[in-house]
Order: sequence, then structure tokens, then C-alpha cells
Amino acid sequence: MSLMGQMMQMPLMISSLLTHAARHNGDIEIVSKRVEGDMHRTTWAEVESRSRKLAQALARLGLQTGDRVGTLAWNGYRHLEIYYGVSGSGLVCHTINPRLFPQQVAWIVNDAQDKVIFVDLNIFPLVEKLAPMLPTVKHVVLMCGRESMPRETALTNLHCYEDLLAAEDGQYSWPTFDENAAASICYTSGTTGNPKGAVYSHRSTVLHAMAAALPDAMCLKATDVVLPVVPMFHVNAWGIPYAAALVGCKLVMPGHHLDGASLYNLFEEEKVTMSAGVPTIWLGLLNHVKANNLKFSTFKTTIIGGSACPPAMIRTFENDYNVEVIHAWGMTELSPIGTLGRLKSKHADLPTEAKQKILEKQGKSVFGIDMRIVDGDGHVLPWDGKAAGDLEVRGHWVVNGYFNVDKSPLHDGWFPTGDVATIDADGYMQITDRSKDVIKSGGEWISSIDLENVLMAHPAVHEAAAIACFHPKWDERPLMVVVKKPGAEVSKEELIAFYDGKIPKWQTPDDVVFVDEIPHTATGKISKLQLRERFKDHKLPTA
Ligand code: AMP
Repeated sequence: MSLMGQMMQMPLMISSLLTHAARHNGDIEIVSKRVEGDMHRTTWAEVESRSRKLAQALARLGLQTGDRVGTLAWNGYRHLEIYYGVSGSGLVCHTINPRLFPQQVAWIVNDAQDKVIFVDLNIFPLVEKLAPMLPTVKHVVLMCGRESMPRETALTNLHCYEDLLAAEDGQYSWPTFDENAAASICYTSGTTGNPKGAVYSHRSTVLHAMAAALPDAMCLKATDVVLPVVPMFHVNAWGIPYAAALVGCKLVMPGHHLDGASLYNLFEEEKVTMSAGVPTIWLGLLNHVKANNLKFSTFKTTIIGGSACPPAMIRTFENDYNVEVIHAWGMTELSPIGTLGRLKSKHADLPTEAKQKILEKQGKSVFGIDMRIVDGDGHVLPWDGKAAGDLEVRGHWVVNGYFNVDKSPLHDGWFPTGDVATIDADGYMQITDRSKDVIKSGGEWISSIDLENVLMAHPAVHEAAAIACFHPKWDERPLMVVVKKPGAEVSKEELIAFYDGKIPKWQTPDDVVFVDEIPHTATGKISKLQLRERFKDHKLPTA
């Protein structure tokens, strides 16, 4: 018989992250720019005690273990209290992206069967409009004080957040239960078909938070000041609300104030050291600092992911502003962290340019995530940095199913990500495309990300997207859709010539069209679906 370990069995509970933060870093601040417009300051200790009151209030509203609680809210302290008050008391926190189409929001609420919805003031009109379509929702809680409550509303079941808390005494102990119980649900963006719910457990969330904080991951420390630009409704702000409690660092919550100027001021006023977000948001911030000739005084590191970070953006941050960029890859189904771009010790003496080249890739997997690439027949491909295949993953915080869906998404025990990637001998993974975005020219694949990265380094280009366009001979050829920088002038021919020597000649885009704006999805990714639809009848000059 094997000898058993003699260690305590303590289930991994989300509430333990918060109680740890309150006890050991109780005075550390959570600063929020509120929807109301003002700044609000609280601490981990205060968040913990208010989360307990919230747990009591939810029980008083009649919620029972496992019930889903929806949120339609920006990054802020009340949203943080909801994360912990809901999951910590055995309920399931369901964050919803308010930028989705209203019908999609209704579909998601109904699929999750949310019993309560917490909503920020400026999103309330959406909930008022949708309420008749949400039969499971018994209570709506407006995240504000009494003074901001609407005088008139058709809703009969509307509550005031601060009133709910004020009615409780906080005499509440966080319960301990099965660590595999559901803690939160996030829906995938559903660019094709209906969104699907990824159900995270307490165990997966705590393990993910531990991995996220590691030095070769986000490298979070108690002395950091972290500003998650990534919204709390986009895969739980990449786990930052949990990892921040774990290390006990200061959090700066930007609310819905995500324009370059607002972000810059917040970075400076609150002495932010670290941030995280999708590339689009950083375009806005970089434009603002450049146009106003500004520098960052404390900002040191940013995690960029959600879509491919253009190498030009990494260089601008590092060379012009001395901000280290960590390129990260992940997805809703991975809670979301999968890989991060960090160097190995053997790279220490490389010149800057060579280091940056390595860091352009999406990076190495963190402990807890195993990955492989397979070809169309499911054969495992080599890690040689050349073979591109379907990326599959498995690990402690990877889904093994979707909410309300019987069919398993797994392939041979692995989760197929839908991304196409290479992995090199050192384990650095590089995404070449979303499998449905890859451009198939005469049987060969062209990476839309590679094409976009070239133009993103052109001084006149604000944003560029590559899509497949019909070609009578090659089936598909690349078309570039480009937004110029304000006031910049550049011709189609100049941009095509800009590819010379940067990619194989045959991959050079056949055409460029200029547009005022590139459409983005609700999570800030370029909407290739909309672009393909818009340019489906585009005639290439080479056709
Ligand atoms: P979501 O579930 O909305 O977070 O989307 C996940 C998808 O975003 C992935 O499957 C990738 O296609 C894409 N993605 C995320 N991070 C990156 C990255 N660093 N580079 C390229 N694509 C990315």
C-alpha cells in the first residue's frame, strides 16, 4: 500500500484570497474612478467586510447555493465586492459584457438563468429595456447610493446597492465547501453561433490566480500598483482581481473611463506600476502620450493580449517609454492565461533587437497549462518553430465542457483552441492566426497576423487588418483594410511596397483599402467577420 501524505486538506476557496488580503494587506487601497465621475478610495479590509454584508444581503433576497448572479458593470470596487460576496458565499458570479448587442445580453442572461442582476448606473437603461425578456431575473440591484437611484422606473424589483449593504451587520463567516463547486461563469464572445458559458470552479480560480502572480507570469508583488484596463467582464479581468488579493497589491479601477487622457492621468495620479489590456486600448493611450509629449513616471510593465500585440507596439512601449511589454495569450476557456512572453537565462546576453524578436511571440506556457499542435488529421507536430498546426491545450484551469451543452468540446482529452500556432524548440508558442481567419492562397496559408504586424510598424498607419478576399485563380488573396493616423498621408502603392523584404514575396497583399474605422468586437478584437462581410464583393486588381 502506498504511503499517504499527512497534510491538511483545505479546499481552495476564493474567499480565502480575500480574507488573506484583508488580514495581511488590509490597509492597501482599492481606488476607483466611478461612473458617478468622482474618485473613490477603499481598502482590502473594507472590501472584505462589505463583501460579507453583500453575502448576507444575497441570502436575504432568497438566493441559494449555486444560483447565478449576473453583473453588468465596469471595473470598480463594488464589482470587486460582488466577485467575492457572490462566489465566496457559494453563489456563481456571472459577468456580462455590456457592449454586446442587447439581444445577446438577454440570451446570455437567460442561458445562465441569472436570478439577480447587479448593474452600473450608466448601463441601467439597457437592463430596464431588457427586463421583460428576462423571466429568471427576480431582482435588479443598481450599484450606487440612495442619492443616485432613479425617481421613476418601470422595474418593481429594483434595489439600491448601498441600502442592501446598510441593512446587514456583517456577522457572517465565509463557508467552506467543495473546491470544485462553480464560482463564476464567463461566456465566450460567440462570433459564430451563440456564446458558450465557461464555468470556473473555486479550485481552478485559485490555482489560476497563483500561476498568474508568478514571476514568469504577471510577476505581481505586494508593492505593485495594478490598473486592470481589461474589463472585469472579459474573462474576470484576466484573473487580476483574484491575483491582486493573493499578493495584496493596490488596485486602480478605471471604470468606463478608458480613453487615452483618462488612463494617462490615472496612471500618473495613482502611481500605477503595472497594467493589462488588449492592443486597441493601448493604441489610444500611446497616441495621447505621443501627441502631448508625455512620459510615464511609474508605469513599468504591461501585459498585452486578447489579440496579437503588434511588434511595433512592443518597441514603442519599450524604446520610447521604458515600459516592458509582456505579450500573453489566452482565452475564455482557459480562465484565460495560457502563455506569456518571458526570456530564458540563455537569452540574457542577446542584443535588444534579438530579445524583442523572441518576445514578439505569444510565449511559454505557465505551469498548469500543457500545449501541443496537431495537423488536420490530429497528428502531433514537432516543436521546430516552423510547423504550424491547430493549438490544443489541457490543464487545471481549462474547460472540459460548456454550461448547458452536452457535447464535449475536447479532442482526445485536449481542448482545441481554434488557433493556429507554431512552437519552437524552447517552447515559445506563436499564434499565426485564428483558424477561420487564415488566408488560404493556392493551398498555402498566409498569416493575417504577420501581414498586420508589418503595416502596424508604418508611421502613417493607426490600425490594419488583413482579410481573405476572393481570387479566381488562388481562391483567396490578402486584402489589407487600413485606418490612417490622424493627418497622415500614404498611398496604397507605398504600403504594398513597404512589405518588400519583410515577408515572402508571394504573401504580399494584393490590395489596400482605406477606411475611417475598423470594426471591433465587444472584447476589443478586430471583427474579421464584419470586415469579410463588408468586403465580400471587393474586386482585387490582380483578379
Ligand atoms: P477570448 O476568449 O475572447 O479571450 O478570445 C480568445 C482568443 O483571442 C484566442 O483564441 C486567440 O484567437 C485570441 N488571442 C488572445 N490572445 C492573443 C494573442 N496574444 N495573440 C493572438 N491572438 C490572441
